[in-house]
Amino acid sequence: MGNSIVKEQKVYILDASAILFGFTLTEGHQVTCREVIEEVRFGGAAPYRATLIKEEARAKIVEPKEKYVKIVEKKIKEVGEIGLSEADIKLLAIALEFKDKGYQPIVVSADYSVQNLSLIFNINIEKIIHRGVSGKIRWVSYCPNCKYAGGVFKGGKCPVCGSRLKRRPGSLSFK
Ligand SMILES: [Zn+2]
Repeated sequence: MGNSIVKEQKVYILDASAILFGFTLTEGHQVTCREVIEEVRFGGAAPYRATLIKEEARAKIVEPKEKYVKIVEKKIKEVGEIGLSEADIKLLAIALEFKDKGYQPIVVSADYSVQNLSLIFNINIEKIIHRGVSGKIRWVSYCPNCKYAGGVFKGGKCPVCGSRLKRRPGSLSFK
């Protein structure tokens, strides 16, 4: 036994935090979606842009099939998860699509909502925050619904519209 087993190919699906932290490829492929690049470009702190340009070249931008986006949206409604952006939904859809094709997708994210949905879909996750980040992360809360931003993430609700806040790295100091 053994020689007839074909090892599944790993595909890492990167969210904005993975790109901001400069997640480095060890094996397999790296992909992301257009919305993530935009999220980092317009929402990320200026010092990360150099990293972004570097990482962007490595991560292939893919667009999920509508069929998979619908599956993700349906599941989100079922479980009542409201902290997901369009970028998050697309990443999960990409993960499902790769899984269907026989790959081994791994969602790389620091976001709790994304991690939660990945687990519900039985997709492997890599929690970027535990992956050798040598520095102090200062988190900034933002609302995926009305774009409110500010303060430190406490898992709370948006003071403007009441949606569940998400977080992203606001600054990082290497000391
Ligand atoms: Zn809001």
